[in-house]
Amino acid sequence: MAEECNHQCSTCSVNCSSRERESLTEKQNDASDVKHVIGIVSGKGGVGKSLVTSMLAVLMQRRGYRTAILDADITGPSIPKSFGIGTGSVNGSELGMIPPRTKTGIEVMSLNLLIDDEAKPVVWRGPIIAGTVKQFWTDVAWNDVDYMFVDMPPGTGDVPLTVFQSLPVDGIIVVSSPQELVSLIVEKAVNMASLMNIPVLGLIENYSYFKCPNCNTEHKIFGESNIEKLAEAHHLKVLAKIPIDPALAKLCDKGIIELMDCNALDAAADLLEKLPASEKK
Ligand code: ADP
Repeated sequence: MAEECNHQCSTCSVNCSSRERESLTEKQNDASDVKHVIGIVSGKGGVGKSLVTSMLAVLMQRRGYRTAILDADITGPSIPKSFGIGTGSVNGSELGMIPPRTKTGIEVMSLNLLIDDEAKPVVWRGPIIAGTVKQFWTDVAWNDVDYMFVDMPPGTGDVPLTVFQSLPVDGIIVVSSPQELVSLIVEKAVNMASLMNIPVLGLIENYSYFKCPNCNTEHKIFGESNIEKLAEAHHLKVLAKIPIDPALAKLCDKGIIELMDCNALDAAADLLEKLPASEKK
């Protein structure tokens, strides 16, 4: 932000970075009151981004906050399945689309809830996908929401860029695997957020180890992690290391992730609780 900025874009003549974000951010639906928007990002697919999104939403809901998930991973949506909700659960009203609620009350919107056959691939070009995500923000009548988690499309391409620009993201959490951390893709995601003035709240490593149920030894299946080094290089926090846990995969497959019994993300939830109250979006 420029030093001369007076924080009032309507009266300020300085063309600083805060003005750019403000002008591109879409206004939320009139019926919505979303206080915090947290993006869950990854450098590539399959690292557990959707699982982390679901687990964080479950944890914050358990702690008494009104929680929602906006599934922006349009071509690989897996959130509805993890919560056991499906096509036909979205209703409409004059206010907009009404997102279905999970068994514990988390509001969810995903393309998979709107298409008639989940097995059909979404063969859409980037601008259409990005437009759909924007509509999930503008045309969905979210209620009072304390924490909205956005399951972002993986990578740093056109769609995540548009999502970052159009949604008022308070901060992002980057999910990666030990394997992926040796490459540059995580750094690219971190650098993209920094270019867009979006705070990186921290890093989460998934598939960190497998704890043998017989001997309790922790096995590093995907090799030694260098998450601490990466975090240090970017002055970031390591929020969690999640083990490979077949029970978690099973809960997702059965649509009952809300029954999870895992404390790996407690520190991340603590951090979210401490986020300053944001202005109305
Ligand atoms: P992404 O959103 O990054 O593409 P997902 O969250 O959909 O990845 O995870 C891919 C698959 O791996 C899912 O079936 C998920 O249940 C499983 N999975 C993710 N993390 C774990 C874990 N820590 N232990 C066991 N299974 C996991």
